[in-house]
Amino acid sequence: MDYDIIIAGAGPAGLSVAKELSKDFKVLLIGRHKPPYTTCAWYSYEDRVKKYNLQKVVVNKCDGLVFIAGNAKHFMKDKCVVVDPEKVLGLWFDEFRNNKGIFKSAELRNYSRIKDGLKIITNHGSYTCRLLIDCTGFKSPILKKHKLISNYNSWIIYGSRIRTNIKDTKKILFLPLNDEKNTYLGVYPFSKNTADAYAFYNIQDKAGKVLDAKPLFSQCLKKYYPDAKQLKPIGGHIISGELKKYALDNIVFFGESGMMAPAGIGMGFNEALLKHKKFSAGVKSLMKNNDFSERSLEKLSGGLFDPAIVQLQQIIAKFTYYFIKHPRKWEDGVKWLSALGKESNKWMRGEINVKWIEDATIKIHKIIPLKETAKMMPVKDYLFVVEHFVKFLGEAVYEEAEKANKEYKRELIKDN
Ligand SMILES: Cc1cc2nc3c(=O)[nH]c(=O)nc-3n(C[C@H](O)[C@H](O)[C@H](O)COP(=O)(O)OP(=O)(O)OC[C@H]3O[C@@H](n4cnc5c(N)ncnc54)[C@H](O)[C@@H]3O)c2cc1C
Repeated sequence: MDYDIIIAGAGPAGLSVAKELSKDFKVLLIGRHKPPYTTCAWYSYEDRVKKYNLQKVVVNKCDGLVFIAGNAKHFMKDKCVVVDPEKVLGLWFDEFRNNKGIFKSAELRNYSRIKDGLKIITNHGSYTCRLLIDCTGFKSPILKKHKLISNYNSWIIYGSRIRTNIKDTKKILFLPLNDEKNTYLGVYPFSKNTADAYAFYNIQDKAGKVLDAKPLFSQCLKKYYPDAKQLKPIGGHIISGELKKYALDNIVFFGESGMMAPAGIGMGFNEALLKHKKFSAGVKSLMKNNDFSERSLEKLSGGLFDPAIVQLQQIIAKFTYYFIKHPRKWEDGVKWLSALGKESNKWMRGEINVKWIEDATIKIHKIIPLKETAKMMPVKDYLFVVEHFVKFLGEAVYEEAEKANKEYKRELIKDN
């Protein structure tokens, strides 16, 4: 075998696992562009960048996120940080090379099976390996070859690093354009006069073209930063959805090609950051056991997700999509965040537990009653939402009943 592992795609998913796995294995990383290269913009959290040693690439510290829709406004207090995406990738690429990892500028095209492994076919030659980790994103040639995507949602994004007067450098902003598509402007401040800013909107079951969002970005700038000078383009898609399979024999998907960006919030960089060590440790143990079966690799991917969290995210993703067609658009969504109060940041962080989910589900149905949800969504999606609402509600009622029962027993003991 030429390599133990080949990783395809040098975005945050590919590079984060490449720098981990190159500590123990002979790893080849192939990418369309030589790292560090990305057209994305990223914010994360102070505790997270500290835990994963990214303090060096923080360009600004903020005290929270601002969401505005119609008459509703929510300030999500949190210790956020804006990072320089190319510096993040550069740091991980340096670690990879220090571990003697090998990079080749090449495009993954196809693969064939050989004894005990795979032959990976690129536009610049073929290489053999025991395991392929596909991190090429939702347009992966392997996802396409096996028709593995069962459904997906897309945020279409176009923007730029801008130079202008950033009035408040301590807030990450999500500002509405108030148009038919429900376009928003995301602003991640770098300094008093620089920010990464991008227009984005959501569509279902297709990716759409990034350049479709370009005129909307111009409109957003005209509305919020009319004097902005555009320094360098930003853009892409954020995809979330489901795959029919999350692995094949000797192949596993990680990052966007593994549909890891949480539905509704699309924090795909953060997700790779949070999960790359656990994923890499799992790969290491499978390598040791020489076990590359589809079943074991799928178990590894599945182990990265909590099913209850995924279900809630899918519910919110459905609301996200149908809010667009609703007369109040996202106003109710912002009201929901306000109803969650201090705990709303857990949603954007993707750090939620069953208790939080129960509370959040009940609150969303208080703000948007099921009767209205029924008007908003097709029957199939409505049934999905109701089924899970009933389940979460049932669990909440059960917990309350258990608490009351314990209380009652304590009172009885006291009385006797
Ligand atoms: C403007 C913008 C703002 C965002 N803001 C945030 C944020 O604040 N926080 C957050 O967590 N997430 C954010 N995201 C989402 C995040 O950037 C993505 O979810 C994340 O980049 C996905 O990582 P990935 O490595 O799986 O895929 P990608 O970043 O898409 O990387 C895939 C890599 O594979 C390469 N590639 C593609 N095809 C092939 C091939 N056939 N062969 C070889 N190489 C190939 C590509 O060139 C690319 O380098 C944002 C995205 C955008 C566009």
